[in-house]
Amino acid sequence: MERTLSILKPDVTRRNLTGAVNARIESADLRIIAQRRIQLTLEQAQKFYAIHKDRSFFGELCSYMISGPVVVQVLEGENSVERYRKLMGSTNPANADEGTIRRDFAESIEANSVHGSDSSENAVVEISFFFREIDITE
Ligand code: ATP
Ligand code: MG
Repeated sequence: MERTLSILKPDVTRRNLTGAVNARIESADLRIIAQRRIQLTLEQAQKFYAIHKDRSFFGELCSYMISGPVVVQVLEGENSVERYRKLMGSTNPANADEGTIRRDFAESIEANSVHGSDSSENAVVEISFFFREIDITE
């Protein structure tokens, strides 16, 4: 069993699609074992996406991530990091495969509905950014 960190981005909460995206996640046999809806501060967004701080889109990405509430989640399943990335689809929804969350829900490369950890190591770091072990219930 492996855990991954998922974020439903502000375009999802704004359009009331939390349940629709969660249905995709659960249909793909990933279990939501922790979940919280929060409003990120700019400082938190910058810290979470620090890996992208030198990219041209960093400022816009952080502003976007604080433009409304997000839902942070821990997903569990076999090979969940890779399986969730596959379910999410390509970063740019124009390139995302049919049936993926981004193909069906994303508004743009920036407002692309979901975040998922890109490695098991990063998942551990990202999960601990938002959750204490006592709040994760398998
Ligand atoms: P995430 O980390 O959110 O799961 P990802 O791993 O598919 O997405 P990254 O390369 O890590 O993509 O980029 C992080 C986020 O930054 C993207 O999800 C998207 O919201 C935004 N982003 C990436 N590239 C661009 C771009 N060229 N222009 C605007 N925003 C971008
Ligand atoms: Mg990424």
